[in-house]
Amino acid sequence: MAGIYVHIPFCKSKCRYCDFASFSDKLCYAESYMACVYREMAKRKEELKNYSFNTLYIGGGTPSVIDESYIAMLVAAAKKNFNLSADAEITIEMNPGTVSARKIGVYKKCGINRFSVGLQTAVNSQLADLGRVHTLNEFVTCAKLLKGENFSADVMIGLKNQTAEDVEKTIETAAAFGASHISMYALTPEDGTPVYTDYLNGELPDGDEVAALYEMGVKRLKELGFDRYEVSNFAKKGKESRHNLNYWRRGEYIGFGVSASSCINDVRFTNTFDLDEYFKCILSDNFAVIDRQEIDKEGQEEEYIMLALRTERGIDTADYKSKFNADFAKKYSSQIKRLERFLSVDEKSVKIKPEHLFVQNSIIIEFFN
Ligand code: SF4
Repeated sequence: MAGIYVHIPFCKSKCRYCDFASFSDKLCYAESYMACVYREMAKRKEELKNYSFNTLYIGGGTPSVIDESYIAMLVAAAKKNFNLSADAEITIEMNPGTVSARKIGVYKKCGINRFSVGLQTAVNSQLADLGRVHTLNEFVTCAKLLKGENFSADVMIGLKNQTAEDVEKTIETAAAFGASHISMYALTPEDGTPVYTDYLNGELPDGDEVAALYEMGVKRLKELGFDRYEVSNFAKKGKESRHNLNYWRRGEYIGFGVSASSCINDVRFTNTFDLDEYFKCILSDNFAVIDRQEIDKEGQEEEYIMLALRTERGIDTADYKSKFNADFAKKYSSQIKRLERFLSVDEKSVKIKPEHLFVQNSIIIEFFN
């Protein structure tokens, strides 16, 4: 089963750390943009007619900033053009400052059954410092509107002046108001964003401080019943994101809209990040792909290992064998030996030990060195 991703590149304002394809001054183009997305979907219909999809993820940007009728039409377009299973996981990302009971009602009615809410922090001064448009109260209102629904909250660590108590309060707030899934990410100071200047000025916590916040967060999440299944993702039993699991298992997915990327039949391709160019391509009946790369067998294997090592489950050696026709432990015996203090190895799997998962990037780099 494969996944569908749709990128909605509009936001109310630009957060200080954001380097995603998102525009705070182009909401007036939402109607034309969505018309192009429906058109792009229809254009891929024939090529994907033999695929079955079991997830649809509407991300951004801020999908909840546009009129809810466009979202309902988007879900309808996905169902019309593709074999989307009846029990598909359909997620929408929402910014708490842009939701209402009416919007959520429309989302639920059109089939959306999972909500991803960008809480980030429960400390208002930190929200303001990040340039987020919402307050803690707005998150609480949003969470109350989602009562009983399957919803995830994003939590950020490594913020300016953030203490362990702040992270704890954020996690506890998300859990207390009903989140069944929490994504806990470290703030990345991307070059060119205002937060990068904070980083250069030494205003952000250093790597060891962030690691300590992360370990504390993992512990608190565990106490609250959230199991880690990927380095940044934690879920109550059965509430893991199917869409993201598909990425980490190197499943196939198709992306629509500005900056959306896809991986179909071992070809990765990415759409333009430029809104005008996207319009031009789609309106002239072309795709908006700017980058296309065929992944050879070696590349597929490398991707598979890198993605699997991010997860709690690690490399399932039987699954690896079925895909690459080799014995993982034998083929990579020298790497496993060299990194043995970081790895947990048994007959069924090879995975990074839980206490080292936060630094999985450097372990993975070392694995391939
Ligand atoms: S809401 Fe998300 S996509 Fe929009 S500006 Fe903020 S971080 Fe970027």
